[in-house]
Amino acid sequence: RAKSTGGDASVIYDARMTRQASGRLDLESDLRVALDRGELCLDYQPVMDLDADAPIGFEALLRWNHREHGLIMPDTFIPIAEETGLILPIGAWVLRETLRQVQQWRTEVPGAGGLTAAVNISGRQLVAKDFPDVVEAAILAAGIDPAAVHLEITETVLMGEPDLPKESLQRLRRLGLGISIDDFGTGYSSLSYLKWLSARTLKIDRTFIWELGIDSHGGTVIELVVGMAKSLKMDVIAEGVETSGQLTELRRLGITLAQGFLWSEPLTSEQVPAWLNTQTALSRTQEFTPREA
Ligand code: C2E
Ligand code: MG
Ligand code: MG
Ligand code: MG
Repeated sequence: RAKSTGGDASVIYDARMTRQASGRLDLESDLRVALDRGELCLDYQPVMDLDADAPIGFEALLRWNHREHGLIMPDTFIPIAEETGLILPIGAWVLRETLRQVQQWRTEVPGAGGLTAAVNISGRQLVAKDFPDVVEAAILAAGIDPAAVHLEITETVLMGEPDLPKESLQRLRRLGLGISIDDFGTGYSSLSYLKWLSARTLKIDRTFIWELGIDSHGGTVIELVVGMAKSLKMDVIAEGVETSGQLTELRRLGITLAQGFLWSEPLTSEQVPAWLNTQTALSRTQEFTPREA
């Protein structure tokens, strides 16, 4: 009896496994054509300057509007894109499209001329030999100031790529763009490594922001990161800020840049110009910006 129950359970388990595996195969083949079918799109989340209470730029976040399954989030399909290598054409498109879009806002939305564009980069892209060419081509095509471009690389990716091409990083640096370490605090980067990368920005992982007020450990980590970034002359962005309580605490800890639902969820590209117009600090600078007739 016990044996037959076990048998039944494993049959159900196998069926579920098979369904999951074939579901994944479907997603994989669908992802191969998603880019050509125009099913991929980008949302944009503002990065806020807390002192000016104004946006300094946007991070592009990839979404997949699957024809049957509807909206699929990046945590579901980026791993598939990375394993299959599809992240290379997809990532190149993300770079081109983000830089084109942000440069359009910089030129067309009053007061938005200084906005930065942050793009998430996978390890697979970073180690590709032609990566600096892909980035340079996207910058030239968009006509955007390279200094306004930030490449976000997660700390764990950096740790996992011992063969990071040194020349690639040097070329990217010479282009004048900024490198941000994403999800900072979840990996184990050393100070000397951060210096060698000459990253411009540390983005503190949102788990540390959520620990604020619950666990004193959260505040300690943020304080340490702020101090370290100061001596390395780096910027710090707090990610995933949701409450005004967290904001108060972050200000007290010396944080001046932040991102999160407190200001805005990721917006569609259509929503961004209207959202920018609601930003008082942005429209105030407009008064002092001479505009063409
Ligand atoms: P990430 O780069 O750390 O992006 C931040 C994630 O936190 C986004 O999730 C964003 O929607 C979410 N978020 C922002 N503010 C809040 C908040 O206040 N509360 C909460 N709960 N969440 C917040 P999303 O869009 O699902 O992206 C997840 C991850 O997928 C990103 O993490 C990034 O690692 C990856 N990703 C997204 N777009 C791309 C891309 O174009 N290329 C690559 N390689 N990876 C991407
Ligand atoms: Mg990011
Ligand atoms: Mg992050
Ligand atoms: Mg992340």
